[in-house]
Amino acid sequence: MRILDSHAHLDDALFDIDRDELFESMAQSGIETAIIPGVSPEHWTKQLDVAKQYACPYGLGIHPWFCEDNPERALVQLTDKLNSAIEDPYLVAIGECGLDKIRKDNWDGQIIALEAQLTMAQQLNLPVILHVVKAHNDMLSILKRYSLPRGGVIHGFYGSSEIASEYIKLGFKLGIGGLILKTNARKLKTCVAKLPLDSFLIETDSPAMTPQNAADPRNTPLILQSIITEIANLQKKSSVLISEHAFRNSVQLFDLKLILI
Ligand SMILES: [Zn+2]
Repeated sequence: MRILDSHAHLDDALFDIDRDELFESMAQSGIETAIIPGVSPEHWTKQLDVAKQYACPYGLGIHPWFCEDNPERALVQLTDKLNSAIEDPYLVAIGECGLDKIRKDNWDGQIIALEAQLTMAQQLNLPVILHVVKAHNDMLSILKRYSLPRGGVIHGFYGSSEIASEYIKLGFKLGIGGLILKTNARKLKTCVAKLPLDSFLIETDSPAMTPQNAADPRNTPLILQSIITEIANLQKKSSVLISEHAFRNSVQLFDLKLILI
């Protein structure tokens, strides 16, 4: 059974003390790699260093939490960074970018940065990694105006079956993560039970989204197995089948054939 984490911030400073050991434990648990998303110009240098050191695929982007009211300067930096990385086979996506209504103070900047990054994804023929919190209707109406050749993923998806099928119709996958392990995530569980096998990826969003009662305050890719088990239970299918499809969907979306042996 092949497993990869489609979204993990393994460049986060919380992993500085034991990153080698974490990658070692991931290898022992059969987790082949993790896609490291980009969040802001200040973070890209370290992110790319970590990605290179551990041979992880990565995205480059501006996260809505790190988006200024006027994101022009950061967008110019992103264009430069993308130009210098475009030949790198480990650059697999634009993102993460998106909309977050919990951090509404920079909403206009979030919209400008998102639309610019969708245009970059079109021009560079890359998929997008989208962060969408309490903003599915806004996101869906923006996505309907862009035709993205490679689609993308709604990472850390939380929403209803209706919202899920809208994204799927637009050519997007859904990133299913630790939220599925919460006992009160009823709406998400109902949705995931019915998702088509070619429509989802698995992820942890480490070090965020730590499961309840975990010994380590940090989340790590090592919880992927419990996410697979939960999806398998909800779908009434085997864990092997679920993990195979999730792996294949990630490989297809991010075109990882050449970098995974
Ligand atoms: Zn993230």
